[in-house]
Amino acid sequence: MSDCIFCKIVEGSIPARKLYEDDDVVAFHDINPVAPVHFMLIPKQHVNSLVECTDEHDAVLAKMLRLAPKLAREQGLDTGFRTAINTGRGGGQVVFHLHVHVFGGTGGKLDSA
Ligand code: 5GP
Ligand code: ZN
Repeated sequence: MSDCIFCKIVEGSIPARKLYEDDDVVAFHDINPVAPVHFMLIPKQHVNSLVECTDEHDAVLAKMLRLAPKLAREQGLDTGFRTAINTGRGGGQVVFHLHVHVFGGTGGKLDSA
């Protein structure tokens, strides 16, 4: 999707602080963090949101969720973290390329993140 900001991050045409990348997934720090550690996992292949996911996305969805604790630990989140997938305008989604937020470092006070 040529007008998708996260596709541009995948392509490398706009910069991001990437912390992980493989053939299917990229993880990068949020540009406007709401917690001391706040990064996102995205599929490289564009899909708008969870609503548009089909069976063909099962593997990448599982991969993102399984990577979350590994990357969280690498970011020093030894005591835990929170994940969020905002879905649709009513779910607070602003960027319509599926992403899994990972928040941590708040000492357990996660209401705002
Ligand atoms: P949403 O509300 O769609 O779940 O969250 C989108 C997130 O993407 C927001 O937390 C926002 O700060 C982040 N974001 C938007 N544009 C960029 C960008 O260009 N680079 C990075 N790294 N994060 C972005
Ligand atoms: Zn995209």
